[in-house]
Amino acid sequence: MKKHNFSAGPCVLPQEVIAKASAAVTDLDNSGLSLIEISHRSHAFVEVMEKARSLALELLGLEGKGYTALFLQGGASLEFLMVAYNLLETKAGYLNTGTWSDKAIKEAKLFGEIVEVGSSKDKNFKYIPKGYAVPSGLDYLHVTSNNTIFGTQIKEFPKTDTPLVCDMSSDIFSRKLDFSQFGLIYAGAQKNMGPAGTTLIVVKNDILGKVSRKIPSMLDYQVHIDKESMFNTPAVFPVYVSMLTLEWLKNLGGIAAIEEINEKKAQLIYSEIDLNPVFEGFASKEDRSTMNATFTLTDEKLKGSFDAMCKEAGVVGINGHRSIGGYRASMYNALSLESVGVLVDIMSEMERKG
Ligand code: PMP
Repeated sequence: MKKHNFSAGPCVLPQEVIAKASAAVTDLDNSGLSLIEISHRSHAFVEVMEKARSLALELLGLEGKGYTALFLQGGASLEFLMVAYNLLETKAGYLNTGTWSDKAIKEAKLFGEIVEVGSSKDKNFKYIPKGYAVPSGLDYLHVTSNNTIFGTQIKEFPKTDTPLVCDMSSDIFSRKLDFSQFGLIYAGAQKNMGPAGTTLIVVKNDILGKVSRKIPSMLDYQVHIDKESMFNTPAVFPVYVSMLTLEWLKNLGGIAAIEEINEKKAQLIYSEIDLNPVFEGFASKEDRSTMNATFTLTDEKLKGSFDAMCKEAGVVGINGHRSIGGYRASMYNALSLESVGVLVDIMSEMERKG
């Protein structure tokens, strides 16, 4: 039985993407070769890379607007330091909304002065800080659009003249935004794009080249731009699967179409959390993530029976992150409304059973 996969990442991918990727591992487009045994310099793979990069820009509405898309390695975690390496000359601002922002701040501190413009650490990152001032003289301002662990999501991004850098690992391609408000976006592939192993970086070309330090080639965005994301051997399989997922999303109607579905899924689970006394939401209502719904049982004694019902129905991956416990239902683009319905039915059954 196919499971209802609520895993926080790596996570569910579209079934048709998995089928196509599996076929390509055996034989890429009737070439008599596997995707993973051809040269990354072959015409076939260069086309894949080009398509993945251009689809990313197209879906984000950034084609022809001075941006470049790159598929690099090292995860979003490497971007924590690459961003600072490439952009931080003296001082940068960071909005601290959770574990991942915290880690980004730690790395950036190695390169210059960091101003925490706002933080929700005081309430265990249950909310998104608002109304904070952005000081002048920053090289950039870094935000995390969706906090995978705590289940909060920025709905309104700060308006600022300084380049806005966004860790969009867990909600890229999930909702309509004016993506041109960002100077740089990065996202690990393993939520809304593909398998772990590649990171999408979308960078506005004119924000680069402003720091005085020397940058090692592998950490230099400009080097990767000049080499068309092929400075070294790329992660061929993750890039291929990302390309397939982006194609799938385009055929579905793009970000606008998936946003509608994502909102339905979020409404379904949050209305159950709010109406059902057996469960309690973790994140502040106005900041709730459409991707990761975090909640707890109001009576821990019910854990055994809830877990057993989930197991029985094939609902997997809903344990909360070890740092906050409880439950987390991750509802990335490829998770169906039907899967959320199955979980919600179990939740209401828990209430009926008392
Ligand atoms: N940022 C966010 C928002 C994340 O959710 C994660 C991982 N889940 C990371 C960064 C770290 O990503 P990686 O494991 O690819 O380094």
